[in-house]
Amino acid sequence: MDTIRKGVLNMTYQIAVLKGDGIGPEITESAVAVMQKAVPQDVTLCCTDYLIGGIAIDRTGEPLPQETVNGCLRSDAVLLGAVGGPKWDGCEKHPEQALLGIRAALGLYANLRPAQLWSPLRGASPLRTELTEQGFDLLIVRELTGGIYFGDRGYRSGKFGEEAFDTEAYSVTEIERIGRVAFEAAMQRNRRLTSVDKANVLETSRLWRKTMHRLAEEYPDVAYNDLYVDNAAMQLVRDPRQFDVIVTSNMFGDILSDEASQLTGSIGMLPSASLGEGTRGMFEPIHGSAPDIAGTGKANPIAAILSAAMLLRYSLGLSGAADRIERAVGQVLEAGYRTADLAGSSDAPTLSCAEMTDRILIALE
Ligand code: NAD
Repeated sequence: MDTIRKGVLNMTYQIAVLKGDGIGPEITESAVAVMQKAVPQDVTLCCTDYLIGGIAIDRTGEPLPQETVNGCLRSDAVLLGAVGGPKWDGCEKHPEQALLGIRAALGLYANLRPAQLWSPLRGASPLRTELTEQGFDLLIVRELTGGIYFGDRGYRSGKFGEEAFDTEAYSVTEIERIGRVAFEAAMQRNRRLTSVDKANVLETSRLWRKTMHRLAEEYPDVAYNDLYVDNAAMQLVRDPRQFDVIVTSNMFGDILSDEASQLTGSIGMLPSASLGEGTRGMFEPIHGSAPDIAGTGKANPIAAILSAAMLLRYSLGLSGAADRIERAVGQVLEAGYRTADLAGSSDAPTLSCAEMTDRILIALE
């Protein structure tokens, strides 16, 4: 257990740290160091490591040992690195099974993915310069445990012979709870919310829209609008600045959040949060374990560090510390420091994972 005592009148929080595989350990260690440095003197973070993914298979035979689930359930928040790698491809048990397992065990039904274009990284975005000049900063709130990914599926005999089917179901309760997360998030940001559906075709979308409209009446300070998903996909690349918070179903969110992440330039910059009832959440970079660069020091730790900032903001209510981390990242990028993934074709020397972490720690001082 790694405990740093910061002061006498302590608020103590338990953080479960799941480093996982590949670059997971190095980026997670960076995130823990930055998080420890950013919290106020009277806050103590007790960070405890638990096994997950391939390394958990190697050591215990299970990708998600019960001890890990219990440790997460006892914690105020969970910080996850990444799982998986070629070593476990073709094994009977997959490291990635642990992700669905831990989300289910913690009841995490809301996935929050901010997509922000940091102004020093404008050149890395595939968007036109006139769009990137002013930057953009949006948040996608995706329903995580319902919809077509969890509905009835199978094979049957149809009009043209064998056919496969998947079904989507959403209850009012499921739509309401994700809707509330999105409206609350909009209240913390610029008070604009777009709900994305396909209500011109899908019955679930019509219920989604009706339920969102009812919720919108409870949040008169939030400017609300609806978009069909095909239009939303187009509007995201036409001008992402028009969005503040987007709320949508599991499958639409899966697709739109990947689209939005690409607009920011590098996968190594993007954090995420998964939330359920209460404040406990799981926070992780959106990228995987990057086995191609694991152990080379080339990993960009910023997505993990920004995930730690989200942990402080959403699970511990330490928005000031989260803001400090985000400002420190901005300063370091503004000063021109880059890891290899951010350097593009530039010949300038790049920083290792540890060096980038040190720069951010210095910026926090
Ligand atoms: P990946 O995100 O690991 O890597 C894609 C590319 O991006 C690679 O070239 C990698 O080097 C680069 N990259 C990723 N993160 C980076 C970082 N922080 N800094 C610099 N470069 C970075 O995706 P993949 O290669 O498709 O998957 C690798 C493994 O990760 C697979 O086993 C996959 O199942 C797993 N995975 C895990 C998660 C998770 O744990 N949540 C998510 C996605 C993929």
